[in-house]
Amino acid sequence: MKRQQVRKGILIFSFLLLPVTMFYLSPMLIMQGAKQGKLTPALVFIFLLFGGTFFLGRVFCSWVCPAGALQEMLFAVNNKPASRGKATCIKYFIWGLWVVALLLTIWKAGGFSSFDLFFRTSFGVSLTDPSGYSVYYGAMVFIFALSLWLGRRSFCQYVCILTPFMVISRGCSQKLKAPRLHLEAETEKCINCRICNNNCPMSLDVNTMVQEGNMENHDCILCGACVDSCPKKVISMKMSSDQDS
Ligand code: SF4
Ligand code: SF4
Repeated sequence: MKRQQVRKGILIFSFLLLPVTMFYLSPMLIMQGAKQGKLTPALVFIFLLFGGTFFLGRVFCSWVCPAGALQEMLFAVNNKPASRGKATCIKYFIWGLWVVALLLTIWKAGGFSSFDLFFRTSFGVSLTDPSGYSVYYGAMVFIFALSLWLGRRSFCQYVCILTPFMVISRGCSQKLKAPRLHLEAETEKCINCRICNNNCPMSLDVNTMVQEGNMENHDCILCGACVDSCPKKVISMKMSSDQDS
């Protein structure tokens, strides 16, 4: 279980840094920067995330994301699995609208003319500028409410616009058979206890994935909780291009 403790410790640390890092993650600031012809660090971050996911899958979500951290802390209050129905498509719709709006904004501004590393960071949460609190706590309350209402990591499941970028990157990696971090399972060792399902923060039916011999799922964030909780050591995490699927 040591890996999960380290993972959760890093997530909590990342959550504590959010008042600073949110200005390097915010899709809203990407849009505001684009309007002024400025390339912002948050957009550069999306490119880096896309490249990183190609090899490492969605480890950003499981090890670093501050929104993921808040949601996992809320497991103590509501640990019910989020529904994995059609509603998970909502994030692709939001993402599509955002991408189109961004491209139009960049086009209208005539492209990027500069790179601003500190774009609007003065609007951060600080005692000298309380207005920054509204953005920060607005996002927190939204994620908080969604988790309490719909269950485990529901913001990741239904809303997060970073997810489609990672799903596309992972899809490219699979198509090109690139070496990548992934799960593998020894189906014959499984006793169908479903402990893996109970521990999956993304509410995936890991037991069925094992039984079907297909451990590739675009919503798997490679947290390793199923690997660490399985009493029969059925699941393992490997870095290679060889896949079950
Ligand atoms: S399937 Fe396993 S590694 Fe993937 S999100 Fe669920 S618990 Fe984490
Ligand atoms: S925890 Fe392990 S043994 Fe139990 S259902 Fe999952 S893969 Fe099978």
